[in-house]
Amino acid sequence: MRAVRRIASTFAAHLVAGLLVSGGALAQPEIALVERQSLSGPELGAPVASSHRLHLTVVNIEGSGWTRERALGALREAASILGQCSVAVAGAQWLTLSAPSRYLDFSTPVARELARLHPVARPAIYLVRDTRNRPAFDAEAIGRANSRTRPELADTVWITAATRDAGVVLAHELAHVLMDSGEHSDEAGNLMRDETTAGSTTLSEAQCARLRETGSAHGLLQR
Ligand SMILES: [Zn+2]
Repeated sequence: MRAVRRIASTFAAHLVAGLLVSGGALAQPEIALVERQSLSGPELGAPVASSHRLHLTVVNIEGSGWTRERALGALREAASILGQCSVAVAGAQWLTLSAPSRYLDFSTPVARELARLHPVARPAIYLVRDTRNRPAFDAEAIGRANSRTRPELADTVWITAATRDAGVVLAHELAHVLMDSGEHSDEAGNLMRDETTAGSTTLSEAQCARLRETGSAHGLLQR
């Protein structure tokens, strides 16, 4: 399965390189997988008792400014926040990609290109340097409802290296993806407040139920 995925993406990269050659441009393998690691549930602090399991792909683009330690810290914090909904982050695939510098900053067209050239399992978190989208958000979540014009980006989160409280932000964006909703909450201390803060990490019963139901229906959560 892993080999097939790898071959498929290499093939896509070569296909594009081939098209560039026929167009007279210089052929360079543009995007390459330089590291793949499996992170286990216990490493991510998965709670023992949980009804739903979440497997993540984390894509770090070399030069993004993210370190593995920082990303792991954010993942653990996000896992502990989602744990209140009885969802365990049961494992993650950590992928490091080398890519030309234009892929380092999020923008919709560049992100679509990256996701198309190197497809990965979803939900996927992309660790990027910055954003060129305007308005500029530290992090963006793309579910099903807001990906109709950019289907390659369905079920992905893009988080910039400048993001503060990255664990809370990651949990917030993953909750958007799992609920397939851009809705925010006005409730004090709620994770889905418009402005994320370190102290706002609570999800209501209704939010948890929606997250589990929609996440399962979209194949993003397993029982
Ligand atoms: Zn939000």
